[in-house]
Amino acid sequence: MTPLAGGAASLPLAGGAASLPLAGLLPEAIASALSLAPTFRGRQVFKWIHRGVESFAGMSDLPAGLRDELAARAVVLTSRVEARSASDDGSVKLRLRLDDGSAIEAMSLQDGRGRRTACLSTQAGCGMGCTFCRTGLMGLARNLAPHEIVEELLHLRRETGAIDTIVFMGMGEPLMNREAVFAAIDVFAHRDGPGMSPRRITVSTCGIVEGIRRLAVEGPAVRLAVSLVSAVPAMRAALMPVSRANPLPDLREALGQYQGLRRQRITLEVVLIDGLTDRDEDIDALISWIRPLGVMVNLIPWNPVPEMDYREPSPDRVRRFREALQAARIPVTERLRKGRGVNGACGQLAVLGG
Ligand code: SAH
Ligand code: SF4
Repeated sequence: MTPLAGGAASLPLAGGAASLPLAGLLPEAIASALSLAPTFRGRQVFKWIHRGVESFAGMSDLPAGLRDELAARAVVLTSRVEARSASDDGSVKLRLRLDDGSAIEAMSLQDGRGRRTACLSTQAGCGMGCTFCRTGLMGLARNLAPHEIVEELLHLRRETGAIDTIVFMGMGEPLMNREAVFAAIDVFAHRDGPGMSPRRITVSTCGIVEGIRRLAVEGPAVRLAVSLVSAVPAMRAALMPVSRANPLPDLREALGQYQGLRRQRITLEVVLIDGLTDRDEDIDALISWIRPLGVMVNLIPWNPVPEMDYREPSPDRVRRFREALQAARIPVTERLRKGRGVNGACGQLAVLGG
């Protein structure tokens, strides 16, 4: 990655420590937080922010006096792009510096038809400690606030253009920061802002049972992906410490409840690690575990992490896994290795020593 010189994103941030960050707020909340009258001013500010205007001076339908007042009291962006790297496949990874000095990463991934997916972080680091994941090595620094999550999308849109879908698969565990993630989703879905249908947003969790239940009952109508990784209890517990307090039977029950309430197909992410999760017994355990659920499976060959000794699965094992699932009539996809050239592929997002 190369540090950026110049450009709007690297200018000193407007406002100051006491300024109110606006990116995580809905129109009504902007109006009330700033005591704007008439209240439609909140909607005007919201629209400008999501059109990509980063300074109040550029909000041309607001009275000049109000623009000055807003500049003194509020701020559109609290984070800045510190580094940007692009890979040949059209993926772009941004390293963002937050106002307390923490660093996070956000990615924009492009498919063959030019459609872009934003992969967003929800925490600085992650405290779940999955042994195969680079972010897990960082430990948890802190939860992101709603405005910091929304700002990731604003930066990605400025740097790479329109975004078609969002996945919460960057750094962190979304369901350990549920309130902020739900608030950001409300902003993404608002018709005066990004206007993104929740069906185009996927929340990926390592399997926080209580979080899945709450999402099912009171959360936005997003898609759910669960990093199952292994359906062998001892193996899952060894690779994913979260599994000890959220054991496989409880997880399956929560997923059944979610499907009952949402009538929506869940995706299970299965990370294939040579000799640990790609064996014949893993295939059998997976098929019998998911049989009652009617989910789809996304196979993710483990992406190498320099600090780890695990090995990638052979193409032959990946094929065997895929064919066994197909034979069992379980829908299966294989994760493309987008972003690998910029260390932005799954499980490679980390700011170590940064
Ligand atoms: N914390 C959430 C979302 C972020 S992780 C979760 O765990 O679901 C995004 C995905 O990357 C998860 O499915 C995770 O299992 C997978 N992953 C982590 N490390 C990986 C690696 N080194 N190679 C391939 N996939 C990995
Ligand atoms: Fe955290 Fe997800 Fe990585 Fe596990 S896989 S350490 S939950 S980011």
